[in-house]
Amino acid sequence: MIAPILEERKPSIRFQPGQSGTIKCESASISGAVSQRACVYCGARVVLNPITDAFHLVHGPIGCASYTWDIRGSLTSSSELFRNSFSTDLQERDVVFGGAEKLAAALDEIAAVYAPPLIFVYSTCIVGVIGDDVEAVCRAAEKKHGRRVIPVKSPGFAGHKSMGYRLACEALMTLLEPSHDQPAAGGINILGDYNLAGEMWIIRNYFKEIGLPVVSTFTGDASYETLLRAPSARLNVVQCAGSMMYLAGRMEEEFHQPWVKASFFGLDDTASALKKVADLVGDAGHRRRAEALINRETERVSRVIEPYRPRLAGKKAAIFVGGGFKAISLVRQFNELGIETVLVGTQTGRPEEYEVLSRLVQPGTVILDDANPAELETFMREQGADILVGGVKERPLAYKMGIAFCDHNHERKMPLAGFAGVENFTREINLSINSPVWQYARA
Ligand code: SF4
Repeated sequence: MIAPILEERKPSIRFQPGQSGTIKCESASISGAVSQRACVYCGARVVLNPITDAFHLVHGPIGCASYTWDIRGSLTSSSELFRNSFSTDLQERDVVFGGAEKLAAALDEIAAVYAPPLIFVYSTCIVGVIGDDVEAVCRAAEKKHGRRVIPVKSPGFAGHKSMGYRLACEALMTLLEPSHDQPAAGGINILGDYNLAGEMWIIRNYFKEIGLPVVSTFTGDASYETLLRAPSARLNVVQCAGSMMYLAGRMEEEFHQPWVKASFFGLDDTASALKKVADLVGDAGHRRRAEALINRETERVSRVIEPYRPRLAGKKAAIFVGGGFKAISLVRQFNELGIETVLVGTQTGRPEEYEVLSRLVQPGTVILDDANPAELETFMREQGADILVGGVKERPLAYKMGIAFCDHNHERKMPLAGFAGVENFTREINLSINSPVWQYARA
């Protein structure tokens, strides 16, 4: 049986095999169909929030400020300022008479009390409606207080999460442009890793062992000072392609830095990422050290995951994550574990990523872009999924359906990247999928 689908949603859903043409993606959500996607402001905030010593001021009603560190577990090795969320708390009166004065006063207070080197001012939906001149206020505050004050015009209704990513990348370019001229450092920048549960530290340690310095990180465990060194690196390594491809392209234009995509999820993808980077910026010694690390870790992790294989073989997985690049790595990881992916979708996948996905999955798999909860529920039931991999918005759906869930999004508390991440991922999938609770909870 095929689930009932809104006519306008049909081009965004593909059943493998037998459907020709490209899936509809990178387009606005269908009005009235609900969407798992987050808003523009949320997209911008997820990218910028992990900068540890930045001050994040939300110019809007207090509700938008509920988006804090709590729902994105980026870790820090220095400042904890980013764990707070601040708001101008716009009220009815401000909406009628304008909120610019309130914003200017808030920036004065921030400079006096916290004195951060960098302030991001996010303007959210209502500011997009009333039209406060946020750029002018930020420019004046930057001049007055002698610190960077960067506006991020991100009214939630202006598009979807992808647009927020782009606005965050523009804000980062605004920060970096004055540091254009600096001598080459010879190392790499890592783009699109947000140090969730310390994942950036894991990846960084791999490059340290190989002998390749990490100059700057975007934006996991980044600080104002480390970001400014980014234009001196030789290569940008892009992990979360959805959020950072635009920045990589802009840095190539402005600073002549080449970039390469690299996924650190799964044994095969982590190994090929390390080899690729060693080949691009290293020499024979770097390649040799990369291979030694890969052989040692692959052997160790393979021994750890071996006992889980019989418990996972034949299970069926559904995946709904933010970007296509991560979805591809997850399908490969499930393949490595003998788990079949029966549904895979993303919030912001690109056509070329969906093409790779359609070649990776088995016949019968449902592929969908920008899904809504009703579609996910129906297809998971029809496909007999045993586990859903997703984020905070998908978790209740899985639990209500009585199927296992693995958090592979902003809130995860356990690192899932690198070789250590493969161990954790396998354990978590096993614990959740084989929990006895599902036989009592399943509807
Ligand atoms: S949709 Fe608008 S009001 Fe809601 S969180 Fe996003 S910016 Fe704020």
